[in-house]
Amino acid sequence: MKIPFFRYGHVFRQQQDEILSALLPIFEKGSFILQNDILEFESQIAKFVGVKHAIGTGNATDALELIIKAAGIGPGDEVILPSHTFIASAAAIHNNGAIPVLADIGGDHLVDPASVESLITPRTKAIMPVQLNGRVCDMDRLGTIAAKNGILIIEDSSQALGAKFKGRCAGTFGLAGVFSFYPAKVLGCFGDGGMITTDDDAIAAKIRLLRDHGRGGHGGMVEMWGRNSRLDNIHATIMLVKMKRYPQEILRRREIAAKYEKSLKRIKEIRLPPAPGSQKEHFDIFQNYEIQAYNRDALKEFLANEGIGTIVQWGGKALHQFANLGFQCHLPNTDKLFKKCLLLPMNTSLTDEEVDFICSRINLFFPRCIS
Ligand SMILES: *Cc1c(COP(=O)(O)O)cnc(C)c1O
Repeated sequence: MKIPFFRYGHVFRQQQDEILSALLPIFEKGSFILQNDILEFESQIAKFVGVKHAIGTGNATDALELIIKAAGIGPGDEVILPSHTFIASAAAIHNNGAIPVLADIGGDHLVDPASVESLITPRTKAIMPVQLNGRVCDMDRLGTIAAKNGILIIEDSSQALGAKFKGRCAGTFGLAGVFSFYPAKVLGCFGDGGMITTDDDAIAAKIRLLRDHGRGGHGGMVEMWGRNSRLDNIHATIMLVKMKRYPQEILRRREIAAKYEKSLKRIKEIRLPPAPGSQKEHFDIFQNYEIQAYNRDALKEFLANEGIGTIVQWGGKALHQFANLGFQCHLPNTDKLFKKCLLLPMNTSLTDEEVDFICSRINLFFPRCIS
């Protein structure tokens, strides 16, 4: 059996005919930039997540950069985010001239509110929780810290479309949130794509200008300096087709997570993410299935020899561990996690037989634990 970590071709094959027939009229009409399909997709995302505004962008990195800009965060300002995230989260802050300040993580691999609180200074303008692996942080605690200190929350919910905390979706907790449609994300397109969600009318209006060269409603007059970061109409068309299946996709991911839980929970040498449904405040969508494993590197190599692809997130390092970025911080929980963390395959191309095979090989690697 050959089980790559992710099957990029599946993103297309899964709904091949439906996608091709939706695209043909778009190509024929030449509906390529800011057409109705984008407005329709934006309104579907707004409704799905439960916010007033959704604004399509070129990718989620741009989306974060645009929010930070629209919020007026710039040189000298600090934004606190976890070190266990993609470089894009911090780059969006850095590229606005502001300073990313890295926090440690808690037992669920998400940012630790206590660590966030300890890093607040008079220059702190915002917290950027990262809703990693398709799970939402404890937004009650982060919300309290933000309110107490008069600072904003900007959510990097790139990995968490449809994930909930206390019944509320990722992307609705702060000033604004973002989603990524990078192919390997839960709702993947055929290239780059992103979305901003917000309930704030003024921020939404400003971001709509910023993402389209600063051009506004009246005959496209330039109202301010902007840039170009629009979601392609072609991608909006593809995503409208994919949205129809999305609720099912989430359920399938949760089913796979439940299978992993059932077959791996007895192995003492590994630690699994919370099982779906096991914590009533959280509805996780399992963008990733991130385990901690004793002897991680040997397990990874063993699985590779068995034809099973796994990865360590971000190429194996948390942000503060990239020496060239110049972060000077001590984040013991994150350091510990990065010796043990591993992503098992988690996507809807996986069959039950494949998940069983992955579990059987892991059980073989830790032989004492076979039940
Ligand atoms: C994927 C990802 C991004 C960036 O998304 P792009 O659409 O590729 O720009 C940012 N943050 C996190 C946590 C991500 O996983």
